[in-house]
Amino acid sequence: MPDPIRDTRYDVIIAGARCAGASTALLLARAGLRVLLVDPAARASDTLSTHALMRGAVLQLHRWGVLDEIRSAGTPEIRSTTFHYGDEVIAIPIKERDGLDALYAPRRTVLDAALVDAASDAGAEVAHGRAVSGLLTDDRGRVIGARMSGSDRETVTIRADLVIGADGINSRVARLLNAPVTHSAPHATASIYGYWKNLGLEGNHWYYAIGSAVGSIPTNGGETCVFASIPPARFEARRRDGLEDLYSEVLREVSEDLARRVAGSGGPGKLRAFAGVPGFLRRGAGPGWALVGDAGYFRDPLTAHGISDALREAEFLARSVIDGREEALHAYDEARYERVRGFFEVTDRIASFDWDMDEVKEHHMVLAKEMNALIDMQRGFGAPTANHLASATASVPGGV
Ligand SMILES: Cc1cc2nc3c(=O)[nH]c(=O)nc-3n(C[C@H](O)[C@H](O)[C@H](O)COP(=O)(O)OP(=O)(O)OC[C@H]3O[C@@H](n4cnc5c(N)ncnc54)[C@H](O)[C@@H]3O)c2cc1C
Repeated sequence: MPDPIRDTRYDVIIAGARCAGASTALLLARAGLRVLLVDPAARASDTLSTHALMRGAVLQLHRWGVLDEIRSAGTPEIRSTTFHYGDEVIAIPIKERDGLDALYAPRRTVLDAALVDAASDAGAEVAHGRAVSGLLTDDRGRVIGARMSGSDRETVTIRADLVIGADGINSRVARLLNAPVTHSAPHATASIYGYWKNLGLEGNHWYYAIGSAVGSIPTNGGETCVFASIPPARFEARRRDGLEDLYSEVLREVSEDLARRVAGSGGPGKLRAFAGVPGFLRRGAGPGWALVGDAGYFRDPLTAHGISDALREAEFLARSVIDGREEALHAYDEARYERVRGFFEVTDRIASFDWDMDEVKEHHMVLAKEMNALIDMQRGFGAPTANHLASATASVPGGV
């Protein structure tokens, strides 16, 4: 049975209760807005994604008071990132900065559940087993609510001043809105990943070879996530022969050492595969609606930044909604591309696999610079002030 929905009207409906939607719900509920967060998937379910978090995301989780929950779920500290460019090895310790000296890579079963629980504790109403299936608009085309279908096949209609699509890469909300793609990236990578025990590696490891890349990310339950990335054409040509053969082949060609560790860790775990989708940025807001997370902006997973982007943009969006003025929401949309342009472009260059070792190293230097710039943009964030709260309760219901 789907979770019940207590009311027929909210300030904000959010479709999608994972890193983007649950973070937005948490911030809006803490600012006093009445939020309904819906998702057809079950709480604490897994999704198709590896889960390395960058410093910006860890800082936000820390500031929001969610990091302790993630730590107490046994998520290991990651104290170094090691880059392997062919035979060249560059180990980078995670520096102590802003009160943090470790990264984390919680399973999505842990991260998404912690964010949903924090949103619920803040007063957001959470309904799993429900999907947004339609939008209500007024006679000027402004979104004024949503229709939701439940796992019991019942449809309910809920009014809201703002409907946020945080429903992922294939966003139903974006399709219902016909939200146009404003920027697209030409390249994509395919990846295959699985979980392994006792690999004996410390920290994150990213390995590069001409035409492929692999990586290892320590996570919950004493397991390490190991991924292999290749161009989609190679994936398509080989997937029918079986994922295991292709996965082992790519591991061997990029890192004999990692391939040996995986082979020695006891039989193939269940592998999951992503065929690749080129990056895009969609228009992110309009009258009565907004998009956040992959629904509005997708960059290739090879730079492992989607969750960090989702958390950062959730905070930018929440601040615009709390501001309450129509222009603030417009500004959120306008500023998004400027914020992410550099990262989006260098991610696409890395996803092209059209580089040699010196070039990919240079791309990583650019990436590090872009990442620091994105963290700097977050420095102004803090808990919403009393003014924000007053303005939110006064003007969001009629004004966003
Ligand atoms: C193979 C792969 C590896 C990746 N590795 C990393 C990594 O290491 N680090 C990183 O930061 N990022 C990584 N990413 C990217 C990351 O997974 C995404 O950027 C992130 O999940 C986006 O979060 P989101 O909340 O926007 O959407 P999602 O996590 O996709 O969640 C969307 C939610 O919306 C729900 N939904 C769908 N339709 C509806 C509807 N109609 N109504 C209501 N709800 C709906 C879905 O059930 C889902 O729960 C990876 C992605 C892939 C594919």
